Amino acid sequence: MRKIAIIGGGFGGIAAAIRLRARGNQVTIYERLNKLGGRAQVFQRKDYIHDAGPTVITAPNLFYELFSLLGEDLENFLEFKPLDPWYRFHFNDQTEFDYGPNREKMLDQIKKISPEDVKGYLKMLKESEAIFKLGYEKLAGHPFNSILTMIRYAPAILRMRGYESVYSFVSRHLKHPNLRQAFSIQPLLVGGNPFKTSSIYSLIHALEQKWGIYFCMGGTGKLVSELENLMIRNGIKINYNSDVSSFSTSGKVITRVNFKNGKSQAFDYIVSNADPIQVSSELLKNEKISFHNSLIKKYAKHSMGLFVLFFGSVKAYKNIAHHTIWMGPRYKELLKDIFDYHHLADDFSIYLHRPTRTDPSFAPKNQDSYYALVPVPNLKGNQNWDELKESFSKKILDELDKTIMPGIVKNAREVFSMTPKDFKKDYRTPFGSGFSIAPILSQSAWFRTHNQDDRYKNLFYVGAGTHPGAGVPGVINSAKVVEKIIYP
Ligand SMILES: Cc1cc2nc3c(=O)[nH]c(=O)nc-3n(C[C@H](O)[C@H](O)[C@H](O)COP(=O)(O)OP(=O)(O)OC[C@H]3O[C@@H](n4cnc5c(N)ncnc54)[C@H](O)[C@@H]3O)c2cc1C
Repeated sequence: MRKIAIIGGGFGGIAAAIRLRARGNQVTIYERLNKLGGRAQVFQRKDYIHDAGPTVITAPNLFYELFSLLGEDLENFLEFKPLDPWYRFHFNDQTEFDYGPNREKMLDQIKKISPEDVKGYLKMLKESEAIFKLGYEKLAGHPFNSILTMIRYAPAILRMRGYESVYSFVSRHLKHPNLRQAFSIQPLLVGGNPFKTSSIYSLIHALEQKWGIYFCMGGTGKLVSELENLMIRNGIKINYNSDVSSFSTSGKVITRVNFKNGKSQAFDYIVSNADPIQVSSELLKNEKISFHNSLIKKYAKHSMGLFVLFFGSVKAYKNIAHHTIWMGPRYKELLKDIFDYHHLADDFSIYLHRPTRTDPSFAPKNQDSYYALVPVPNLKGNQNWDELKESFSKKILDELDKTIMPGIVKNAREVFSMTPKDFKKDYRTPFGSGFSIAPILSQSAWFRTHNQDDRYKNLFYVGAGTHPGAGVPGVINSAKVVEKIIYP
C-alpha cells in the first residue's frame, strides 16, 4: 500500500483517486476550492441552477467503470438520459440542422441542405470510425512517455493523415459551408481551432455516433457529488480548501508536498491534476524541471479563453434544444482573431445550454436556466474583462433576442458571467485558457506533458494538460494511463 496525494479534484483527479484506491493504496485528494469538480462547478442564483462547465456526457461507460472498480453499480445513484437532438445548429443564414442519433433523419437533412454531400458524409463517417479505432481505442488510454511509442505509432498517424486539420478532413468530404462548420466544430469542445487541430480529433464524431450524447439527470454537479460519495464510502480522504504551493525535492524524487497554510507532508507518489504548466512554473519554481516540460512551459500554445454568460428566463423557450450551436457570420476569420491575434472581435459564435429541456429541476416551473458559452481570446489578449464583461453580456443577449430567443432581453433574470480572468483565478489555468494547452499535433501524445514526470519519477499527471487531453473522456482516460504506468 502506497501513500498517494492527488493534487486537485477535477474529473482527472477523481478518476485517478478511484483507480489508485481500487489498487489498495492510501489515497488523499487535496483540492484548493471548497468543493470537488474543478471546471464542473455548480452555481445557483435564486431559483436558477447552472452547471458551470461540462454538460455533454459522451462515453458514459467511463463513469460506469469508475463505480465498478470499487465494486459498486452506477445505476443505483445516477441516470444518464440520452439526448435527441444532440446539438441543434443555428446558422447565420437563419437555417437550422439537428445533429442526432437518428441516422435517417440526419441524412434527410443533409440531403435537403446539399444532396451531393450525403455520399460524402457517409464516407467521412467511415474514415472517422477508422481514426476512432486508432486514436481512441489504441492511443487515448496508452502511455506516451517514451519517444519509442511515438515512433511506433507515427506511421499509423501519418496514414490517417494526422497532419491534416479537422477542417480540411471535413472539407475533403463535404461541400456545403454550413455542413463543413457543423462537422468541424468538435475541436472547439476541447480547446482547439478546427483549422489547426489534428484530424485525429475527428474521432469525436465517431465517438458520438458510437455511444451517443447524454445528460446526467440532476446535472454534472450531481455526477460530481455521487463520485465524491463513492470515494468517501471507499476510504479516499478528501481535503478541501487545501492549496498546494510547492513541492520539495531530493535528487529525482518529490519528497514533500507543501501547502499554502504552511503545512507539509511526505508521500510515496504524487498525482497532479493541477495544470502541468502551473506545476513547472509555480510548484517546482525553485527546483529543476525536465527539458521536455521546460519547452512546454516556454513555447506552449494555449487553448482559447471562454466567456460564459449565465442567466435564468421567466419564460421557457420550448423550441430551444438542450444544446444549441449558434454560428456567427464568420468562421475561419473569427477563429484566427481568437487563436492567432488574441483579438476580441465584434462578432462571435455561441454554444447555448438549456438543461431545463431535459431536467426541469434547474429552474422554477415553466421557466428556464441557461448558459451561453462564447470562445474568446485567452489572457494573452490583454483584454480588460472587468470593463468589457457587461457590454459583452448585453451583446450576447441582444443577438439571441434578435434570432432564436425573442424577448430574452426582457425575460432574462439573475444574469452573471465568468471571464478568462475568473478561469485563471478559480482553476489556476495559465492565461485563463478554457482547456489547458491546445490540441494541435505538435502538442499531442508524446509532445504533451508526459503522464509520468521525466525527472521526478514519483510525480504523475492527469487532466487536460497531459496525454490524451481535454474533455471529460480525455481526462478520465489520463487516469487510466497513470494506472498503467504504475501497474504495467
Ligand atoms: C465551460 C466549459 C464547458 C465544457 N463542456 C464540456 C462538455 O460538455 N463535455 C466535455 O467532455 N468537456 C467539456 N469541457 C472540458 C472539461 O470540462 C475539462 O476538460 C475537464 O473537466 C478538465 O478536468 P481536469 O481534471 O483536467 O481539471 P479541472 O477541472 O481543471 O480541475 C483541476 C482542479 O485542480 C485544482 N487545483 C489546481 N491547482 C491546485 C493546487 N495548487 N492545489 C490544489 N488544487 C489545485 C483546481 O481547483 C481544480 O479543481 C468544458 C469545459 C468548460 C470550461
